[in-house]
Amino acid sequence: MKLAIIPDEFIQAAGVLKEIQAHGFEAYFVGGSVRDALLNQSIHDVDIATSAYPEEIKQIFPRTIDVGIDHGTVLALVGEEQYEITTFRTESTYQDFRRPDTVTFVRSLKEDLKRRDFTINALAMDVNGEIIDLFDGMSDLNQKIIRAVGNPKERFHEDALRMMRGLRFASQLDFTIEADTLAAIQEFHALLAKISVERIAVEFIKLLLGKNRKAALVPFIETECYQYCPELRTFGEALLNFSELPNQQIETESQAWALLLKTMQLKDNQIRNFMKAWKQSNQTIHDVQQLIYGLDKRLLADWQPLDLFNLGLKSALSVEKLLFYYGQNSKLEEVKERYSRLPIHDRKQLAVTGNDLLAYFNKKPGKWLGDMIETIESAVVNEQILNNKEKLLSFANEMIDKE
Ligand code: ATP
Ligand code: MG
Repeated sequence: MKLAIIPDEFIQAAGVLKEIQAHGFEAYFVGGSVRDALLNQSIHDVDIATSAYPEEIKQIFPRTIDVGIDHGTVLALVGEEQYEITTFRTESTYQDFRRPDTVTFVRSLKEDLKRRDFTINALAMDVNGEIIDLFDGMSDLNQKIIRAVGNPKERFHEDALRMMRGLRFASQLDFTIEADTLAAIQEFHALLAKISVERIAVEFIKLLLGKNRKAALVPFIETECYQYCPELRTFGEALLNFSELPNQQIETESQAWALLLKTMQLKDNQIRNFMKAWKQSNQTIHDVQQLIYGLDKRLLADWQPLDLFNLGLKSALSVEKLLFYYGQNSKLEEVKERYSRLPIHDRKQLAVTGNDLLAYFNKKPGKWLGDMIETIESAVVNEQILNNKEKLLSFANEMIDKE
């Protein structure tokens, strides 16, 4: 079988394969890029596998970087481009369910493809676009099936992360997990406890953002994998409700977390703990909190000017998009219009500064100052007062008098 149209990414990299072959070694495109090209999907990184050992690759290409030499990966710099070239390898005896004890370089493509996780990820392609399919990956690709290479129980026992990878591919590709592979996930789900949260999170986020998240969430729940993911153990029912939301693809990570956490009905401080347990960045946590705050408001009533000001345009639009999952229409253009008409978009645009107020009242800085600026800001945003220095100072004066 030959790939009908070879994507540019492979054509660009063809010279690298030819160069390796000219030195008497085998070289192929492997992994996700071959799978995605066959599925007519855009491809990200082109991975190259070769029978040449890392030292041999370093002699072939004048400019290389040892990015993962222990695993057999060398980065070759060719012109403006860089290519990851990995020596065929086998991985022997996994003692800790996550890392091979030893990596052995081999000269056989078959041995290399055998250690890969799923049949659709174990396809190789030569420089002419000919597909090398030693584990019936093409048939599974055509039937939209995720199937472990070899014995699924052994494969998940070797590396438990593969269970999460299988689930995320089900979502990303809109594929079904084959029965024996699914049964093995069911049997070994508890081994996920051995895998770092960071690695689980990468797969879980891809699962949430995939085009058929429901196809992955249902087995994620049924196999009880969720029980070994941070902070989800007691949320089986909420997860099921989450899987029942309209199955439209979610655009961003923050939106995905926000929808999940909203379904779990977590409070603000619990949201933080949850996201910390999943090792998410403070920026992501902040974004998610904003979205949930906005969503709670917007589901009850239309935006108030101060909500739009506090959230900013990006979060407000993001909240609008989430309304779809609650059966409501998004009013994107209206929100843009209303946001643009706000008198100010940032505190810095206020016609008075903290220093102005300190000088005007001849007082020491303190809590009163922050409170006052906030009140002034709200009044300006709500168009109760014009953003003009004189007006704002007399407004502040009235406030002081009232105290
Ligand atoms: P993506 O499009 O998300 O990058 P991918 O299939 O390329 O998907 P990678 O994590 O980039 O996934 O891995 C590249 C290839 O390496 C896979 O296609 C698979 O053949 C192999 N692989 C990756 N992780 C594992 C694993 N845990 N066990 C076995 N093989 C793996
Ligand atoms: Mg990849």
